[in-house]
Amino acid sequence: MNQTVDTCVIGAGLGGLSNARKLEAAGDSYVVLDKGRTPGGRAATRRFADSRFDHGLPLLTDQGPLTRALTEEGHQAGVLEEIEADGTAAGGWFAPAGISALGKHLASGLKIRSRCRATGIEEHSGSLTVTGEPDLGQFTVEVRKSLMLTSPLPQSLELLAPLEPDWLLPEEAPCDKCVVAMARIDQDRLPDGPLLRDLEEGSGRLALEHRKFPDVIPGVSLRFSPLMSEGLFEVEDGQIKEVMSGTLEEFTGPVADDQIQLMKWRYATGSGAVPDPYFGMTRGEVAIAVCGDGFFGGAASGTRRV
Ligand SMILES: Cc1cc2nc3c(=O)[nH]c(=O)nc-3n(C[C@H](O)[C@H](O)[C@H](O)COP(=O)(O)OP(=O)(O)OC[C@H]3O[C@@H](n4cnc5c(N)ncnc54)[C@H](O)[C@@H]3O)c2cc1C
Repeated sequence: MNQTVDTCVIGAGLGGLSNARKLEAAGDSYVVLDKGRTPGGRAATRRFADSRFDHGLPLLTDQGPLTRALTEEGHQAGVLEEIEADGTAAGGWFAPAGISALGKHLASGLKIRSRCRATGIEEHSGSLTVTGEPDLGQFTVEVRKSLMLTSPLPQSLELLAPLEPDWLLPEEAPCDKCVVAMARIDQDRLPDGPLLRDLEEGSGRLALEHRKFPDVIPGVSLRFSPLMSEGLFEVEDGQIKEVMSGTLEEFTGPVADDQIQLMKWRYATGSGAVPDPYFGMTRGEVAIAVCGDGFFGGAASGTRRV
């Protein structure tokens, strides 16, 4: 796959898709590259044991005009529903088919190349060339006007390193890890209460997935806190499942190992270390913006001023 476009967006998460919809509406020449199979990025849904889990972003909350526009769009398309007032402290919006349905909806009609991982960016006489690896062979995209990187900030910075950006980078990692454990629960042992529940001593947050998905076998997920996740990240799966089972005991009774699945996000939530709205620079004729959610304190998209 070799092509030439005015704009290349790296990442088809909610941020990249929101940008791409504007490009599509304006009739611009663009392409979105994403290394994943399906759009949505961290707004991801997994099915296992006939249960459904939003194992990344659990729901959308109002974090400003961008998320409001996103929820409005999702609501009007019939993809998002509002959570009852007592469902979480903050309220918010969820997708009855799983939050990944929002990414799929936003992606509809856009020019997206899935399974295309960008691995290099080079400058060539005024334009930029993005190279990478799809499942089969290699691809090259020549970019004439703008390049938007919406991948998690550490990944974007790694990709741009050969262009030697002169930004003042934060000393601390701008992304926290998150280990997520998902468990299928017997119908007669369902915990009740708010959809999201903080565990004692800040060790994590329980999400009662069955409150969102009453049409499938019920499930509960546990997002370990950044501190716990850091400690658990390299730990064997069996041990993490034990921790999950022990935690759930109080709420649902013990859960067997084979009813638990794990997901480890290396870059889960922006820790808000970057005060700028985005990093911008030009190389040749091309404007480059790094605008993942490491900006704006981890809001669901850091792209509002691009
Ligand atoms: C467990 C968990 C819990 C969360 N909880 C909350 C919460 O409670 N509230 C909240 O506001 N936010 C939460 N978030 C964060 C929220 O999910 C993100 O802020 C939001 O989804 C980010 O969207 P994005 O488009 O900026 O990035 P992403 O969704 O990460 O999209 C980036 C995309 O870039 C792609 N990509 C990366 N590198 C490359 C490459 N080299 N080439 C091509 N494609 C690439 C990825 O495949 C991905 O699809 C949570 C995230 C996780 C994982």
